[in-house]
Amino acid sequence: MAVNTEVFSTISEKLQQAGVTLVAVSKTKPVADIQELYHLGHRDFGENYVQELVEKQKVLPNDIRWHFIGHLQSNKVKQIAPFIHLIHGVDSMKLLMEINKQGINNQRVIQCLLQVHIAEEATKFGFDTTEIPTFFAAKELPMLQNVLIKGMMGMASFTENEQQVKDEFNHLQQCFLSAQTTIEQNVDITTLSMGMSGDYALAIAAGSNMVRIGSMLFGIRTPTAKTPENS
Ligand SMILES: *Cc1c(COP(=O)(O)O)cnc(C)c1O
Repeated sequence: MAVNTEVFSTISEKLQQAGVTLVAVSKTKPVADIQELYHLGHRDFGENYVQELVEKQKVLPNDIRWHFIGHLQSNKVKQIAPFIHLIHGVDSMKLLMEINKQGINNQRVIQCLLQVHIAEEATKFGFDTTEIPTFFAAKELPMLQNVLIKGMMGMASFTENEQQVKDEFNHLQQCFLSAQTTIEQNVDITTLSMGMSGDYALAIAAGSNMVRIGSMLFGIRTPTAKTPENS
């Protein structure tokens, strides 16, 4: 159950050269695995359960940049608000308003990505690309000065069909590029988070500059019970 440090070194160097941020997805993996990559200089880690993230954050160094990549419930925002680096899965104005409120309480600006639904599977969360312009035009948005919308996150369909995956990533890239024309103080569309172990090369070819990679670095995950965050 060891970390694949050889794969890590190869891929992290390649991504660095390409200007792509590597988020090492450590969900379900022990603290020792995170420490192993930390000692190799890695700082960006992704988790998708609030409870697990909070427990790991408590015992790990403060300069880790924690990424929340799961489905976030409004009532759990306060637990991660003091330290979270980037919330990838914002999928409603209601959630963004709660993040803003907790940002105020913690006297910090919390960086967020809007999750956009690009896959054909109906189970995945997120906005439709058609809803994004309406979101940026909403009258509530300029008032939320303790959040900063940094870009978009999406997941392609789980399929062998490469063309479909490419099309889905291209679709999200178009949405990302259009959103860059938004002029608001709390909007700065520079981060496009797409690509996982199985499809990150296709994602980068479609303009991704942040990939979320788990199993390729940490080995396959043993399935855990379904919770509201991953169901
Ligand atoms: C688990 C997860 C990943 C990493 O998946 P791998 O296939 O293990 O690389 C990436 N993004 C999200 C949102 C995830 O939940």
